[in-house]
Amino acid sequence: MRVVLVGPPGAGKGTQAQFIASHLSIPKISTGDIFRANVSGGSELGRKAKGYMDRGDLVPDEVTIAMVRDRLSEDDARDGFLLDGFPRNVPQAETLKKMLAEWDARLDVVLELVVDEEEVVRRLSGRRTCDTCGRIWHVVFDDKRDDVCDDCGGRLYQRDDDREEVVRHRLEVYQEQTAPLVSFYAEEGILVGIDATGPVEEVTERALAALRPFMD
Ligand code: ADP
Ligand code: AMP
Repeated sequence: MRVVLVGPPGAGKGTQAQFIASHLSIPKISTGDIFRANVSGGSELGRKAKGYMDRGDLVPDEVTIAMVRDRLSEDDARDGFLLDGFPRNVPQAETLKKMLAEWDARLDVVLELVVDEEEVVRRLSGRRTCDTCGRIWHVVFDDKRDDVCDDCGGRLYQRDDDREEVVRHRLEVYQEQTAPLVSFYAEEGILVGIDATGPVEEVTERALAALRPFMD
């Protein structure tokens, strides 16, 4: 199954992606995670992406698309994947469509996580990420008093781009560039939206129920 998750920063895409992907036995591909790994590893790709990420802007399409093409060409993604954070604008969505058509494939479904802006700001201000396994936590909602990952013992860190002024800019970028994808995919007939508020497990249940009609 080929799935895209769409929703504003902080909607819970990464959180849900880890559960949905493991439930469906497909790889979770997060462009944000790949960029962050390249920034911390000091690669050429990371060097190209860093300034844009620090400001909360989108990394240029040619850089992002080349990276996604490489990742989707790997064996584990041949029969299905869950994309988190890509596409992020209409040109990326059009390129993805063409890329998949070259491989005689197409997206099955685009799942929109719907959350209001106030909740998104609350979520991002308390977000912590494990530097070892990548698991996403929240200081209040997960009652994290220390900075140790309960899953693997790794260290939890706060993303640089979760600072308030960068968050505000990322939300504007979402409204201007990414939100148009909702009508793009609605016109393609593959959009399904769910209420992404409430406990994480309930959102996962809603997501899986919404995806079920699109499964083979
Ligand atoms: P995104 O990938 O869409 O930017 P994340 O999955 O990183 O969002 O979630 C942002 C923050 O919100 C994280 O700290 C996460 O733990 C928290 N979060 C995710 N889903 C929920 C939920 N249903 N209820 C409360 N907090 C949540
Ligand atoms: P995320 O982890 O999805 O919140 O992404 C973090 C940052 O990585 C974004 O603010 C962008 O700078 C960059 N990024 C991630 N995905 C994309 C994409 N599809 N296109 C452009 N930039 C991206």
